[in-house]
Amino acid sequence: TQPERIRNFCIIAHIDHGKSTLADRMLQLTGVVDSRSMRAQYLDRMDIERERGITIKSQNVRLPWAVTNDAGVKEDFILHLIDTPGHVDFTYEVSRSLAACEGAVLLVDAAQGIEAQTLANLYLALENNLTIIPVLNKIDLPAAQPERYAAELAHIIGCDPSEVLHVSGKTGQGVEALLDRVVANIPHPVGDSDAPARAMIFDSVYDIYRGVITYVRVVDGKIRPREKILMMSTKTTHELLEVGVISPEPVPTKGLGVGEVGYIITGVKDVRQSRVGDTITSSVNGATETLGAYQDPQPMVYSGLFPLDGSDFPLLRDALDKLRLNDAALTYEPESSTALGFGYRCGYLGLLHLEITRDRLEREFGLDLISTAPSVVYRVTMDDGSEHVVTNPSDWPGGKIAHVHEPIVKCTIISPSEYIGAIMELCQTRRGTMGGMDYLSETRVELRYTMPLAEIIFDFFDALKSRTRGYASLDYEEIGTEEGDLVKVDILLQGEPVDAFSAIVHKTNAYAYGVSMTEKLHKLIPRQQFEVPIQAAIGARVIARESIRAMRKDVLAKCYGGDISRKRKLLEKQKEGKKRMKMVGRVEVPQEAFIAALSTD
Ligand code: GDP
Ligand code: MG
Repeated sequence: TQPERIRNFCIIAHIDHGKSTLADRMLQLTGVVDSRSMRAQYLDRMDIERERGITIKSQNVRLPWAVTNDAGVKEDFILHLIDTPGHVDFTYEVSRSLAACEGAVLLVDAAQGIEAQTLANLYLALENNLTIIPVLNKIDLPAAQPERYAAELAHIIGCDPSEVLHVSGKTGQGVEALLDRVVANIPHPVGDSDAPARAMIFDSVYDIYRGVITYVRVVDGKIRPREKILMMSTKTTHELLEVGVISPEPVPTKGLGVGEVGYIITGVKDVRQSRVGDTITSSVNGATETLGAYQDPQPMVYSGLFPLDGSDFPLLRDALDKLRLNDAALTYEPESSTALGFGYRCGYLGLLHLEITRDRLEREFGLDLISTAPSVVYRVTMDDGSEHVVTNPSDWPGGKIAHVHEPIVKCTIISPSEYIGAIMELCQTRRGTMGGMDYLSETRVELRYTMPLAEIIFDFFDALKSRTRGYASLDYEEIGTEEGDLVKVDILLQGEPVDAFSAIVHKTNAYAYGVSMTEKLHKLIPRQQFEVPIQAAIGARVIARESIRAMRKDVLAKCYGGDISRKRKLLEKQKEGKKRMKMVGRVEVPQEAFIAALSTD
C-alpha cells in the first residue's frame, strides 16, 4: 500500500470512556468483523481484561475504509488502529504505541468530561506530535452534556467547540464521520522506501502455539518473510519466519512497507527477546540509527508473593516462569520468610500491574496467594559512602545511614471543585507538595501535586475515591527521587523480628505504624503458656509495645479477637483442618494470624 493511502491512529481515553466499544464499532463498520462473530470488546482478548473492562495488552488491527473524494471518486484507504493500554503503569508501552501513529482520537465520555488519564494520554500524544481529533462519546446517554464538555475539550486542546465530533460507540452514531475525519485530518506516514529497513516494535505478545508475536510499525524500507533482521538493542539476529497484518486475526503477507503496521514472527520464545521500543533493521547493510531510544522496563513497586499452602511453591515458580514469557516487565526472585515460608519477591511497574499479576496467578494457575505490603525502590547511602538499593525492608542496611532517597511522582487529580479542600487535606497527610491548580470549567478542577510514590501505593487511590464520592480521577508519573526521612520499623514477637511485618516508613508515621501493627497482632495471636511481648522498634529503640498474657487453665484457647470479617473470604479459601502453625522463636502462631494482620486495611 502507498503511504499516502495509510492512516495510523490510536484512541486515547480515560478508563471506561468507551474506547473498546468504539473500536468494536469500527471493526464492524469497516466489515473486518461481521455481526455474527462480533462480541463485546473484541480486541480485549484476555479474560481478565474483559472482566475488568480494561485493556492490558495493546492490540492493533487493519481497517479498510473508502472515502469519496471531491471528484466523486471512491478512494480506498488502510487505517491501522492501534489500541493502547490505558493505564499509568504502562506509560512506556503507551508511549511506544503512540510513536507508531500519526494521529489520535481523543475520546471523552459526554456524561463525565475530561478525567486524569485523558490529560495524561493527551500530553503523551502531543509529545509525540500526533494530530488530535477531539471526540465526545456516549452522546446517546440521557445524562450526556455535549455542549458543556465540548467546551472543556476545545479549551484543553485549543480548537473550536464546533470541531468536536459527537459519537456513540454503542449505537454507532457518528462513527462513519469519525473514520472519514481520520482520513481527512491525520497525516499519512512518511518514510524512505529505498533506505535500509527500520521498524519499531510497539508490542510483543507470547502465543503458546506460535511463540512470540511482535507488532511493528515500519518507518523506512520494507521487511519481508525469510529475511534476516537485527534487533538493535539486543544486537541479536533473527529470521523472519512470518510477516503479516492483523485483520483482525493474523494474516500472512509478502511484506510490510513504509508506514505499514503488522506483525512478525521470528521463533523467539520470550517477549524479553523481542522488546517493546526496540528498532529492527536488516541484518546486512542495515540502518545504524535507532528509532528513538529503547528503554528497559523498570519495576517501581516490589512485594512478596507467598502461596497460602507451602506445598504450592513449585507451582508458583512454574506459573511465574510462564507469565514472564508474556510480560517483559515482571521480575521475581525467591524469598523466604519466617511468617510466610517460601515465596518470591516480585517487581512490578505499578500497583495495577501487581494486582493483575496476582489475579492471573490465582485465576489461571489456581493458586491461593498472599502478598506483603508493597514497597518502592529506596537508595540508601551510608556514612561510609557505600550505597544500597533496597526493594525489601529485610534488606535495609544496619549501621549509620547518611541519607535515603525515594522515588517521587507528579500526580494529576481531576475532581468536581467542591472536593478541593478534602483533596488538599489528603495530599498534605501524604507528604504532597502542591504544584498548581487549574479550573477546567466552573465546576471542575485539575490539581497537580508532587508526592512520594510510597504514599501513592499505600491505598491513596481508595482514600481519594472515598473523599470525593468516587468522582476524582488520578494519574501519576515518576519524575525522579528526593531525600526523605525514612526509617525501618521492625515488629518483634518475644524479641524475635517477624520479617513480613517490617516496613520502611516516614519518621512521622513510624509510631502510628508500630501501634497499629502491635495492636493488630495482639488481637490475632492466641495466648501461649508464657507471656509474649509484641514490640515495634526502630533499630534497638522500642516505639510501641503490647503484651499477650500467659494462658490460664480455665481460659478457652480462643484464637481470634477483633474484626477479621474482611479477611473471611481469604480464610475460607484455605483448606479445612489444615491449621498451619509457624514458630517465631518459642511462640506458636497460626499462619492465619499473619495473613489477617497483613491483609486488613
Ligand atoms: P474503555 O475502558 O474505554 O475501553 O471503555 P469500554 O468500551 O469498555 O466502555 C465502558 C462502559 O461504557 C461499558 O459499560 C460500555 O458498554 C459503555 N459504553 C461505551 N460506549 C458507550 C456509548 O456510546 N453509549 C453508552 N450508553 N454506553 C457506552
Ligand atoms: Mg477497554
